[in-house]
Amino acid sequence: MSPSFEMVVGLEVHSQLLTHAKLFCGCENRFGAPPNTLTCPVCLGHPGVLPVLNEAAVRLGIRLGLSLGCTIHHRSVFDRKHYFYPDLPKGYQISQFTYPLLTGGAIPVRSGPEVRDIRLHRIHMEEDAGKNLHAGIRDASHVDLNRAGVPLLEIVSEPDIRTPEEAVDYLKKLRQILRSTGVSDGNMEEGSFRCDANVSLRPIGSSTFGTKVEIKNMNSFRFVHKALVFEVERQSELLERGERVVSETRLFDSHTGRTLPMRSKEEALDYRYFPEPDIPPLVLDPEWIEKEKASLPELPQERILRISREFGIGEAEAEILVVEEELARYLDEAREALRGHSEKGGWPLEKGVARLVNFLLTEVLREWNRKGVQVLGDSLSSAEIAHLLALVTEERLSLSQAKDVYAIAVESGKSPRKVIEERNLSQESGEETIGRWIVEVLAENPSEVQSYRDGKDRLFGFLVGQVMKKSGGKANPQKLNHLLKEALGR
Ligand code: ADP
Ligand code: MG
Ligand code: ZN
Repeated sequence: MSPSFEMVVGLEVHSQLLTHAKLFCGCENRFGAPPNTLTCPVCLGHPGVLPVLNEAAVRLGIRLGLSLGCTIHHRSVFDRKHYFYPDLPKGYQISQFTYPLLTGGAIPVRSGPEVRDIRLHRIHMEEDAGKNLHAGIRDASHVDLNRAGVPLLEIVSEPDIRTPEEAVDYLKKLRQILRSTGVSDGNMEEGSFRCDANVSLRPIGSSTFGTKVEIKNMNSFRFVHKALVFEVERQSELLERGERVVSETRLFDSHTGRTLPMRSKEEALDYRYFPEPDIPPLVLDPEWIEKEKASLPELPQERILRISREFGIGEAEAEILVVEEELARYLDEAREALRGHSEKGGWPLEKGVARLVNFLLTEVLREWNRKGVQVLGDSLSSAEIAHLLALVTEERLSLSQAKDVYAIAVESGKSPRKVIEERNLSQESGEETIGRWIVEVLAENPSEVQSYRDGKDRLFGFLVGQVMKKSGGKANPQKLNHLLKEALGR
């Protein structure tokens, strides 16, 4: 992109809610059932049926609003949004238009070294549409209406995002909040979390926005990033040639990494919104909102500050642990296991915890990035890691031995305990034992000892190596160094 332009992005996320039933009927809200088995006259759009609002979906809307600091409107209204498409048998979608459930709020997002608030414009409730099926079908398309009527929250940001990285961080933070509050499973492959990105450019310093393009329906962070990077280049080239950006809807093609035009805004649909006559306005009891507030989990930003304080690490590192929920839980569990070791061994817990956090942010995080959640399970459970690091804290294993053990355990699927046992690994820290090895080595290498004493410094390393060899690699390196220096008297 030309450096004279600035990117402006606003995101619209559709999130499927974790309710048992659909939004306006009793059909099951579940992914993966055979086509059209989770349907009834209401979600099939038969005439004359009456929708009934699912209280559980409203509850999840309230929870999200509380977590994002939104204004929760005590009165909101459902509207009909009209359009024709085969996956929408009613000919309209029940949504909220003029009076949404939630407005305002913000998501703190990482922007280089800083954290910036991305403001939210609105969040409203609506029903999902069905799905057209094309794969494996010749000369026709089929329609699956299992998804029709599934509850969604549409979360619309203000155009506050300025880079593809901020956009991805915004999505990660939002997804994390949806998951930790139990509002949605955030499953991107199953379409529970889908994103439309609105993108425009403007000259740096300009206070008005340029013409935007909307990229529809992306279901991976990587795709969003790629689509934004592509789109910024495309628009920048147009503007530099003196052409203008056309207001249109585009699709991201994950095979080519390009965005392609889908429809122009001149052909924009007129949805003919009007209030849904079959559903009365949604009026919330303030006591209900208070009750939900009391049962909310810790917010991510609060959690980042707490972890950073409790574990003595930077906020950026704490953030990694919080965004990846499983890592944070693992850390908490491993600390508890370590507490048991510290009580038995009589050493201060903080000593082990510092080591644990470091190990997690380096060794474990590296394997996690490579292999995913499986590196936190079974043979590599939090109790196993605590055991491994207790050995290091008690100087029965060196840190580099522990790293090796961990790497072997990840590759072999064996527990660290098992790896240590099989390889007969341990560390010798006893001064008497190390001292005995040193005496032997000095006796076996009189000329080297003499040369060292005469000033050949690099022979120190040789002698260290000899003692280490004699110990079978088990001598505590710090102790060995210290005792050998003493013995050589230099
Ligand atoms: P539309 O009517 O086309 O749906 P909205 O005003 O409802 O547009 O905004 C939809 C999304 O687009 C919001 O997330 C908003 O922040 C974002 N947006 C609006 N204008 C721009 C712009 N010029 N550039 C980038 N994003 C924008
Ligand atoms: Mg829109
Ligand atoms: Zn139904």
